[in-house]
Amino acid sequence: MTAELIRGTVVAEQIRGELAAETVRLRETRGVVPGLVTILVGEDPASQSYVAAKSRTARELGFHSVQHTLPAATPEAELLDLLARCNADPRLHGILVQLPLPRQIDERRVLEAIRPEKDVDAFHPVNVGKLLLGNPDFLPCTPAGIQELLVRSGTELDGADVVVVGRSNIVGKPLAVMLAQKAPGANATVTLCHTRTRDLAAHTRRADVLIVAAGRPKAITAEMVKPGAVVIDVGVNRIGVTEQGKARLCGDVDFDAVKEVAAKITPVPGGVGPMTITMLMRNTLRAAQRAAG
Ligand code: NAP
Repeated sequence: MTAELIRGTVVAEQIRGELAAETVRLRETRGVVPGLVTILVGEDPASQSYVAAKSRTARELGFHSVQHTLPAATPEAELLDLLARCNADPRLHGILVQLPLPRQIDERRVLEAIRPEKDVDAFHPVNVGKLLLGNPDFLPCTPAGIQELLVRSGTELDGADVVVVGRSNIVGKPLAVMLAQKAPGANATVTLCHTRTRDLAAHTRRADVLIVAAGRPKAITAEMVKPGAVVIDVGVNRIGVTEQGKARLCGDVDFDAVKEVAAKITPVPGGVGPMTITMLMRNTLRAAQRAAG
């Protein structure tokens, strides 16, 4: 058996079509154009490419897109000043600060300085709290993209055994909360694994849906997967350079072996990645719709 591919690129394209239509409607009925500002501090090449992709997608959807690139040595106070101006600018509905930040800047203080109504990454404690309570204004982008992929690929989550490997604040932890909510597209029994999990394979082998966000190439092998499971590979590991000089990427799952065991699987690249950016656009549009009343 070879698993069916869950193609994030295709699903993301479909959702972007829906978002573009909603953007036109918002402009024509309320005169409001969604605005997204991206802020990059420093010159990390991966961060540069993420921010460029976010700005490009925003423009393609017809958003007002603003990009600020600050030197790596920028003092924290300067970034906080910029955030205060963005918070006050009515043309900007979403503010995204690309992480990680240089050492002299306190990430927590920066994320807490973004107005929760403009926090389209959903990292502000107010938005994290609302998510936990099951009443979110914004869903964090990568977990939201994963949930959309599962729902749109017809994966049954109600009552399913879901195992999430990795407990970061941006992927594993919020995703586990979302999939365990008493809500449509959720209602799963969720196990959250990490490096102190005693027997990882014993957990992963029970999973109807296995989601891996560990940042370790090929951490999940075929023997760790239940036959017929749905496998979502969040990992993006840079393992060299292609002949075209681009970064060679691989996921956290041993794709070639696991695809012979699983029923459905996401590829890397072309799986979760395109969904993350699309969910950022959805959050920005929702923020603009809310601002328009
Ligand atoms: P992170 O902050 O690097 O944390 C990794 C988590 O995985 C930790 O909770 C760690 O456990 C756990 N872990 C690591 N190795 C493990 C192992 N061998 N067994 C069990 N648990 C293990 O994670 P992240 O920021 O969520 O990123 C994870 C991966 O997803 C990275 O490759 C990242 O590039 C990728 N990512 C992709 C997207 C996308 O849009 N495609 C978005 C975000 C992240 P401890 O807590 O015990 O240390």
